[in-house]
Amino acid sequence: MRRRAFILPYVAAACTALAAPAAAQPAPARAPLKVYISADMEGIAGVVSEQQLSPAGFEYARFREFQTAEVLAAIAGAREAGATEIVVSDSHGNGQNLLIERLPADVTVIRSWPRPLMMMQGIDSTFHAAVFIGYHSATTNVRGVRAHTISSANLAAVELNGVSMPEAGINAAIAGHFGVPVVMVSGDDAAVEETRTLLGDVEGAVVKRAISFHSAATMTPEASQALIRQKVRAALARRAAFRPYTTAAPVRLDVTFKSYRPAELLAYLPIVQRTTAHSIRFTGRDIIEVSKFLEFVNTYEPGIAP
Ligand SMILES: [Zn+2]
Repeated sequence: MRRRAFILPYVAAACTALAAPAAAQPAPARAPLKVYISADMEGIAGVVSEQQLSPAGFEYARFREFQTAEVLAAIAGAREAGATEIVVSDSHGNGQNLLIERLPADVTVIRSWPRPLMMMQGIDSTFHAAVFIGYHSATTNVRGVRAHTISSANLAAVELNGVSMPEAGINAAIAGHFGVPVVMVSGDDAAVEETRTLLGDVEGAVVKRAISFHSAATMTPEASQALIRQKVRAALARRAAFRPYTTAAPVRLDVTFKSYRPAELLAYLPIVQRTTAHSIRFTGRDIIEVSKFLEFVNTYEPGIAP
């Protein structure tokens, strides 16, 4: 756990006002407010199928623009709430979706894989809040557009310490390890509801209502961007109300694969226990070890090159 010492903006402003006539004074330094934005794509307004989600899809090029625009809306909302530093992780598919030339010059972007902290790479204890844009519900959820957890092809369930986890939960636990609370999530109604059930009263921007795995009643990009901007601003305005989401150490990870052989082979490793035909268990010292293990399991294959 970390300890922070920062002066709330309104306190700083009040002190300045009392100290001397404003005209004679330089502008007071803004209190640092570092915001981490993790951006996925399944929960972007309008996304309903693979056609929007991967470079082979006929709508992908346009939907990269919409994803970028929703991230820009989150950045704008964060700035309005006083954000002084922003890191964005491009956390969908190949990790190279965001049109980085559209982002403000002082934003840092995390791209491509693998990453030890997966969708949360770049976060550390200097951040004050985490925001999830374009998120989707877990593979165990009976609702939700493109509901899956980490790998739609390979995984049927992920649990941390016996609790079923969507990506939002795993990522909140990584943020929580560094003492950073999640304050806002955007996505379809299933994803927002699931995240709020797990994390509590975070701000949620429902940009579409799931009809089925490949169908939704969606907002337009213009409307979703306005909503996201407003929700991020509102979340950061009351950021003192949020607590980091933490998982007790050691952290027990249970993974269920859709296929048989990953469980069989991983159980060759003495650090892995096979719990069912399709499931394995790994216990990490903390969520960071669990994150690295998950990234390994989802990325490694003997033919990887270079
Ligand atoms: Zn994704």
